[in-house]
Amino acid sequence: MKALEDRIRTDGRIREKGTVLKIDSFLNHLIDIRLSNEMGKEFFRLFGDQGVTKILTIEASGIGIACLTAQYFDVPALFAKKSKTTNIDSDVYSAQVMSYTHGQVYGIMVEKEFLTAQDRVLIIDDFLANGAALDGLMELVNQAGATLVGAGVCVEKAFQPGGARIRASGVRVEALARIKSMNEDGIEFC
Ligand code: 5GP
Repeated sequence: MKALEDRIRTDGRIREKGTVLKIDSFLNHLIDIRLSNEMGKEFFRLFGDQGVTKILTIEASGIGIACLTAQYFDVPALFAKKSKTTNIDSDVYSAQVMSYTHGQVYGIMVEKEFLTAQDRVLIIDDFLANGAALDGLMELVNQAGATLVGAGVCVEKAFQPGGARIRASGVRVEALARIKSMNEDGIEFC
């Protein structure tokens, strides 16, 4: 999506020796609603014919884009809540995720009543790196017996392995901007 790539080029900041992209000025802290809205529309163009009944994301950064996307599908947005401890509550589906940005494992959970076997789920997230966040969300979908339609991410760092691995497992993954490489000299998109 050209508007997103252009914005990443002008406002993105590269950190941690070229492994982390900061886009706090329009997606991860301050949110540009017009751009996020266009991203939601694009996800709808890609997945709108799939009979999606629920958008699933993970708190906190995914919530904004998930809500803006959900309005095009006219379905609810559900966000997995994070917890420090493993959840043994029988009323919830839960999974473990290795945090890319914090380097530690955390639990995620959704209430069973909000994700059911009748749901057709589109997962939405801001970034795809090693794929741990998507793995955790897909695990929740599995536990619910729901149907996974696919995953839409705003930014895929294609030089990291998550996207290739998850696509190889048969899941449809669509990224609005795919970064081939990034360093002090700039950002190259796929
Ligand atoms: P993964 O689980 O695929 O390794 O990483 C995806 C999650 O980590 C996303 O939910 C996102 O919050 C965070 N993340 C991964 N890479 C980046 C990055 O380069 N920049 C930012 N801002 N977040 C990232």
